Amino acid sequence: MALDYTQARQRMVQEQLLERGLHDPLVLDAMRQVPRHLFVEEHLRDRAYEDHPLPIGEDQTISQPYMIAHMAAVLKLAPGEQVLEVGTGSGYLTAILAEQGAEVYSVEIIPSLASRARQTLHELGYGNVEVHVGDGSLGWQAHAPFDAVVIGAAAPGLPRPLLDQLRMGGRLVVPMGEEDLQSLVCIWKEPGGIHEEYCGECRFVKLRGEHGWESA
Ligand code: SAH
Repeated sequence: MALDYTQARQRMVQEQLLERGLHDPLVLDAMRQVPRHLFVEEHLRDRAYEDHPLPIGEDQTISQPYMIAHMAAVLKLAPGEQVLEVGTGSGYLTAILAEQGAEVYSVEIIPSLASRARQTLHELGYGNVEVHVGDGSLGWQAHAPFDAVVIGAAAPGLPRPLLDQLRMGGRLVVPMGEEDLQSLVCIWKEPGGIHEEYCGECRFVKLRGEHGWESA
């Protein structure tokens, strides 16, 4: 019998998010709405709601559902806010952010992933999203300043242009640390300086580009 994706999604929200203490209603609603199975290749669709990342080609992955929801919850988006996403990947997090009413500017360095994500997001009807091919570690100056910035790949340090393109009072989320294990760092840009908080351990693919890993 074919897997009921709607049911699989409700179960994912219950078991992987609610039962782990994630209660942000906007994020939970978005996770209930966005058809994650359409962001992976056809042969992986039945595994899309499992509790781990999955390959999306080009040695990259779609993050685990919990990690996506956790990042989105930290950003605490309000409808109409402008968000910069670095590393579109499959476009799944892009959709979760767009579903919350944000205007999402997403930069992906691998052209084939960018075009597939663009097509998926278009087919699902997300009009409040722009995907651009380039080095996202440099940000997207034309649309700055952003209310929020989310980096979907592990950075060796905080890329300066991304902090510069964040508005005062804005939030930034970035996995930072070693190449094989990082902390999810949540940053608030305030008039008195930068406020940082560690929001748990994580494992992401490496950030490339000018402010990424030299070896990536
Ligand atoms: N959140 C995504 C997963 C992102 S995986 C999802 O939901 O599918 C990380 C992505 O970052 C990969 O697609 C990788 O190609 C991209 N990436 C790495 N370095 C980058 C850079 N400097 N600029 C833009 N994208 C980058």
